[in-house]
Amino acid sequence: MEEQKKPKKGLNLNRVDMPKQEPAVRRNNFNEVARGYTWDMALEEAGRCIQCKKRPCVEGCPVNIDIPEFIKAIQEEDLSESVRVMERKTSLPGICGRVCPQESQCEELCTLGKKGAPIAIGRLERYVADWKREQGIADMPEMAPSTGKKVAVVGSGPGGLTAASELAKLGHTVVLFEALQVAGGVLVYGIPEFRLPKEIVQGEVDFVKSLGVEVHLDTVIGINMTLDELLNSDYDAIYVGTGAGLPMFLRVPGENLNMIYSANEFLTRANLMKAYLYPDYATPLKMGRRVAVIGGGNVAMDAARCSVRLGAEEVYVVYRRSRAEMPARLEEVENAEEEEIQFHFLTNPTGFLSDGRSNVCAMECIRMELGEPDASGRRRPVPIEGSDFVMDVDTVVVALGNAPNPLVPNTTPDLEISRWGTIVCDEKGKTSKARVWAGGDIVSGGATVISAMGEAKIAAHAIHEYLIT
Ligand SMILES: Cc1cc2nc3c(=O)[nH]c(=O)nc-3n(C[C@H](O)[C@H](O)[C@H](O)COP(=O)(O)OP(=O)(O)OC[C@H]3O[C@@H](n4cnc5c(N)ncnc54)[C@H](O)[C@@H]3O)c2cc1C
Ligand code: SF4
Repeated sequence: MEEQKKPKKGLNLNRVDMPKQEPAVRRNNFNEVARGYTWDMALEEAGRCIQCKKRPCVEGCPVNIDIPEFIKAIQEEDLSESVRVMERKTSLPGICGRVCPQESQCEELCTLGKKGAPIAIGRLERYVADWKREQGIADMPEMAPSTGKKVAVVGSGPGGLTAASELAKLGHTVVLFEALQVAGGVLVYGIPEFRLPKEIVQGEVDFVKSLGVEVHLDTVIGINMTLDELLNSDYDAIYVGTGAGLPMFLRVPGENLNMIYSANEFLTRANLMKAYLYPDYATPLKMGRRVAVIGGGNVAMDAARCSVRLGAEEVYVVYRRSRAEMPARLEEVENAEEEEIQFHFLTNPTGFLSDGRSNVCAMECIRMELGEPDASGRRRPVPIEGSDFVMDVDTVVVALGNAPNPLVPNTTPDLEISRWGTIVCDEKGKTSKARVWAGGDIVSGGATVISAMGEAKIAAHAIHEYLIT
């Protein structure tokens, strides 16, 4: 239950709770945890919005969705209009309504948040997107006449999908290249079904295809074709949205033992390869009794919550800072706590021990304390001398974050790359290479779905400007 505040002078300061599956039930299934609002709930929550003249919530949205307008349409019970308003600015509302960190974006700036709970903008966005899907409405947005220009989009994550749909709407022929056998990027191989059902992602990929975007799966740019080969064929411009999928490791002794996974491998097997549907899908994921997940971000929460559902008896999240510094969304931390995942804060692994047959059987750790803030502004964790201890575990998932995918940078000699492996761009996504733009995690090194979408949108409009002048 969310904390209840006393209403003041006609303002309703309490948001409508969203129903969720009970923790004891959801620990045993991969079905979506949050069930979404009913119509009555959506109407009540939308009714709290006071339609501020200054519209601070819009400033907090990286793709500038006209939030007061789409909420007003709900208040007026005109959901078709609400869909129209939203789709002017986003092609992926069902996804954003589920996974965007609204609490640090639009909702953080909501006027009601000063005195009580901000409007549940994400939940309302999700409600409207789901309503459209359930009605089977296939409205086409306004499409510009064909420009005769052709653009390649590399990578089908939220950034690539957004760039492709924007460019198609602007009248360009768009071909989207994806290395995997399914489109969607992290939305399909990383974020689990219980947080983002794949049916929703597929629906939004289908919407992008309905705009005329041609999708080539199983095509690895840098192996099947290079950027130069694309530019030397009939493509006028390229958008690169290849993301950050290269796992990072602790680099401590014993990290190569069996049953120590990178979160990438673990989540890809669980989600994309559907280990959770074994034996219907012949791709099991070997799981021990005691699992340690190292890290404190969304990836760590997803890996820990998958482990519970795949049958682990005890799951520990081991994080070197405290709960307050965790980068994961608070909602996901709370969900994990409700699912009886145990958190070991201010703890850092220093090595792994073998059972004598090359399987991990324990993790050596040291306790940490928080020192002065580091470059990220968070207090730096410092080891406490003599506080070493051993934790018995038989499975480990390392979820420390990802680095940019190196294939496109490595096969494109005149593309400027930073020392972190990210592609260097200007504020409109223009790279050092003629006719090539980029955005999303391959540029930021790892951020959010909505920031990838925002950057893709800006780059798509810059590509359009270039192509029509
Ligand atoms: C497990 C997990 C959970 C997360 N949870 C959240 C969350 O709750 N909220 C949130 O906002 N963000 C979350 N994030 C971050 C978010 O998913 C990313 O910031 C976002 O997906 C980046 O989008 P993108 O389009 O830049 O790249 P990606 O989504 O990484 O997509 C890149 C695509 O490019 C393809 N590709 C790579 N190289 C090539 C190539 N050479 N040729 C062709 N295709 C290629 C990849 O296969 C992939 O499909 C999470 C990330 C992970 C890993
Ligand atoms: S800031 Fe909050 S209350 Fe004001 S218009 Fe935006 S959503 Fe509504």
